[in-house]
Amino acid sequence: ASRRAAATARRLLEAARDAIAVEAEHLGELDAVAGDGDHGIGMLRGLNAAVDAAEALGDAVGVRELLETAGDAWSETAGGTSGALWGSGLAELGRALGDPEQFRPEDAAAAVSAACTRIAELGGAAPGDKTMLDAMVPFQRALAAQLDSGADLASALAIAAGAAAEGAAATSGMLPRRGRATPLAERSLGHPDPGATSFRIIVDTVAGIASA
Ligand code: ADP
Ligand code: MG
Ligand code: MG
Repeated sequence: ASRRAAATARRLLEAARDAIAVEAEHLGELDAVAGDGDHGIGMLRGLNAAVDAAEALGDAVGVRELLETAGDAWSETAGGTSGALWGSGLAELGRALGDPEQFRPEDAAAAVSAACTRIAELGGAAPGDKTMLDAMVPFQRALAAQLDSGADLASALAIAAGAAAEGAAATSGMLPRRGRATPLAERSLGHPDPGATSFRIIVDTVAGIASA
């Protein structure tokens, strides 16, 4: 079961990389509004490293080792705040999933929650600070609530991705209180946070594949 999950994780990483590649220039422009403009390039560099590391492992590993290795490669290669946070979150997702004989929906919810907690602790941001958390926290809460009430994983992911999109859109009205965009915070009013936007793109891609 864990090797099959590893193959799925590898495929999702590749799809996330492809989706970010399409949006990299736009993400860079969003980051240039009040930050340093490298968010698209950084995400793409990190995801490429994660995909390469995952592919180098071959087919014999479980999902835990795959995500830990891919997450470490992402953190080391991406540079920047978002890369450190995404890489650590992915590695935590792998540790929390582990390698069970059989995955239950509540395992997915618990693992996503552990990854989000790790990212929140590392970054020290709170919802409303105009960061990726403003897409991530609604995503995690909606996913847990859906799975709790008996939804299957694909429809739970679809609803959670919708919550992430709403959360990312709402960052347009916020002032950044964390990270590099803080000194020029006012400039970013009316523009969504780059990290919340890339989070939305990635979970939308994952949800799309899950319901295909
Ligand atoms: P850098 O700011 O180091 O250039 P990126 O441009 O790749 O890194 O990422 C910027 C994004 O990282 C922001 O849009 C925001 O979503 C996210 N971010 C920045 N600081 C934090 C933090 N402390 N906690 C969570 N997310 C953060
Ligand atoms: Mg940046
Ligand atoms: Mg930077």
